[in-house]
Amino acid sequence: MCEKCFQSGIYSFKSYDEFKEFERLIDQKIRGGVITGIGERNELNFYNLTYHCSNCNEIWFLSDPDNSWRGYFLTKNQAIDYENKIDREGKIRARGCMIGFVLLILLIIYLVASA
Ligand SMILES: [Zn+2]
Repeated sequence: MCEKCFQSGIYSFKSYDEFKEFERLIDQKIRGGVITGIGERNELNFYNLTYHCSNCNEIWFLSDPDNSWRGYFLTKNQAIDYENKIDREGKIRARGCMIGFVLLILLIIYLVASA
């Protein structure tokens, strides 16, 4: 992070307009030669594009918003932490659904057996 690229990451684009505004800004910085797109990679789940700042050597990950996914623009380390956190929350939610499903089956068995 530096004054030439970005001073902080964005954890979520609040609206389509906010994302469009961000794209305009990053295009400007790419044309200014500070930031270079270094391609698409798939180490993580959600990010689409990788950028490099020639001033501070930071690697930035951009994830485009898509439907309910609000996207992000974060440094490599922030993006890895953020995606790990989302992944953990997803697993906890999936476990919660599984418990609810098992209880429902038990209830149906009980109702059938007691009829
Ligand atoms: Zn920088």
